[in-house]
Amino acid sequence: MADALPLVLLAEQFAKLPGIGMKTAQRLAYFVMSMSDDEVTEFSEAIINAHEKVGLCSVCQNLTDKEICPVCDDVRRDHSVICVVEGPKDVSAFERTKEYNGVYHVLHGLISPIDNITPDSLKIKELLARIQKGGVEEVIMATNPTVEGEATAMYISRLIRPLGVKVTRLAFGLPVGANLEYADEVTLFKALENRNEM
Ligand SMILES: [Zn+2]
Repeated sequence: MADALPLVLLAEQFAKLPGIGMKTAQRLAYFVMSMSDDEVTEFSEAIINAHEKVGLCSVCQNLTDKEICPVCDDVRRDHSVICVVEGPKDVSAFERTKEYNGVYHVLHGLISPIDNITPDSLKIKELLARIQKGGVEEVIMATNPTVEGEATAMYISRLIRPLGVKVTRLAFGLPVGANLEYADEVTLFKALENRNEM
């Protein structure tokens, strides 16, 4: 027997989430039916709240519910070193190493002509503006060792070098095509420690 339409529509919403196939989406939709009214309200409000209240840090562009995120706001961190990453998940990965004491810049994507992602659609202008303000000595290109990651690192390093700032690249003991989000802390720390000038 076919599911009731609202249930089908709910499953379709779950299926839009990354890593959720139609079968799992259906299971989640059924699960929602077993939740109490209060639980469902809490769940849906959490989604709306997170989406409404979390925006981008005006300095590093990472997700935050403040004007300036806790990392950028921390005077004990070294603001002369900026680690440039693809997304907020990568910031979490570096923070987990507990060894990196600089700050970050989140690009929100990588240059990918096939997917129509041009440099203009990334937070590159914001990075250049940050560097032009002065006080930055090193920019670490910490994008993934994929075709898009390398191309983005090259593109940005060409823009930054003329500004007299040292540009380095993670020394990937990480396999080519790997995703640094999934790298363990030791591997990531080594990649950071052994970084090379570009
Ligand atoms: Zn920030």
